[in-house]
This record gives sequence, C-alpha cells and structure tokens, in this order.
Amino acid sequence: RQTLRLDKMLVHMGCGSRSDIKRMAKQGIITVNDKRVKDSGMQVHPLDDRVEVDGERIVYREFIYLLLHKPPGVVSATEDLRDRTVLDLLSPEDRHFEPFPVGRLDKDTEGLLLLTNDGQLAHELLSPKKHVPKTYEARVAGDVNEEDIRHFAEGVTLDDGYATLPAQLTILSKTDTDGGPVSFISLIIHEGKFHQVKRMFEAVGKKVEYLKRVAMGPLVLEEELEIGTYRELTAEELAVIG
Ligand code: URA
Repeated sequence: RQTLRLDKMLVHMGCGSRSDIKRMAKQGIITVNDKRVKDSGMQVHPLDDRVEVDGERIVYREFIYLLLHKPPGVVSATEDLRDRTVLDLLSPEDRHFEPFPVGRLDKDTEGLLLLTNDGQLAHELLSPKKHVPKTYEARVAGDVNEEDIRHFAEGVTLDDGYATLPAQLTILSKTDTDGGPVSFISLIIHEGKFHQVKRMFEAVGKKVEYLKRVAMGPLVLEEELEIGTYRELTAEELAVIG
C-alpha cells in the first residue's frame, strides 16, 4: 500500500501550499479517519485513509487525463515566453496536477490533444513502435486526387529524405475558388514526425491551409466539445488506452 506525506497529498490535490496545510493543521481543521491532525507531515495511505479538510472529504488521485479541443494560436507546451500555452486553458485545479501534452499540435493546428501527468501512458502512446493512428482533417489548396491517395498509401518522401509509413488519404469534397481548386480531406497517419501532415502534402506539391486532428488511437474528438474546452477521459476510454 502506497503511503504519502499528508501535506504532500493535500498540495497535490490543490488544497494550498505546504505552509497553508501546516497552518490548517494547527487550526485543527484537518482530520484523518476522523482524528484531528497535529502533524501535517504525517504519513497517510492516500487511497484508504479518510482525509477531510474543513469537513470536506478530499479524494486522492494521482493521475489526470484530459481531452482538449485545442484552438489555433496556443502552443502545445507547458511554458512559453511569448505565446499562450494549452495549460492556460485549464482550470487552476486541473493545472495543479501538472499535466503536459502528449505529443504536439502546431500552433495553428486545432483539435484533439490529450493532456496527462501519467508519464508512462504518454510514453506508450508516443512510442514509435506502437504506431498509434492519428486522424486529421484538412483543407488543402489544390486538387487532391487519386494519385495522391496512391502516393500516400505507399509512403511519400519528405523534404529531409524520410520515407513515411503508408497513410490513408480520403477525399471528402472539393470546391473551386477564385484562387483555384480547394480539397477537403481526411488522413490517417501512424507516426508523428514534425509537421508531418503539412510536409506530406508539400511532398506532392500542395499546401495545407487548415488542419484539425479528430482522433488519436481510440480517442475521438466529439462535435459537442467546443473549441478551447476540455473534458476528462471516460472510464471506458481509459480502459482501452491504459
Ligand atoms: N501534422 C502537422 O503538420 N501539424 C500538426 O500539428 C500535426 C500533424
């Protein structure tokens, strides 16, 4: 059974700083299994002991798993000197768990981004060996055609000489604009090289104008999740990715 210092547990759960916790213990408002706590550095079993602050039960958990609908204009990083980061979109309570993005979306890319503090899960999802499929939807300047579909299915060679794994390209629709033809496509890739989708289209002489990730492995971005908002993964989702 895992044990943890009480103050550490309460800091993790967003109840305050270590000195706040010490003060609250002095005030006598923290109880463990209905006994008033004097020493905020005492060891507790965070999953079994009943910890209350001011009469409110604090249910411990170590990990958090958030599915964010990333808007354009924020960076997939935990800190940045210039830009807003995806962490700025989280509530202070959720930021307390120190989640980080699992992989990256470009600043101008929208869509599904998983945030967690579970390093092991992140590592597994990002492992090149796992080939976790990622589905994107894009608007592409130019006439995406059958030849591109064949090309992508075989793998294309990027500007740095890297040959991509087979990818599944689907043409959703096309329109003609004053600036020429525009194609709406979906693309499933099984790896995650830097700017991969944009560079795959560059390799066939076309330009991605808008990019959104709609799925990653079994996780799907539902229509209802508004841009810039997030939700926790469901127990079912966790069971399949975990
Ligand atoms: N491919 C890209 O080019 N950009 C992204 O953000 C994700 C995949």
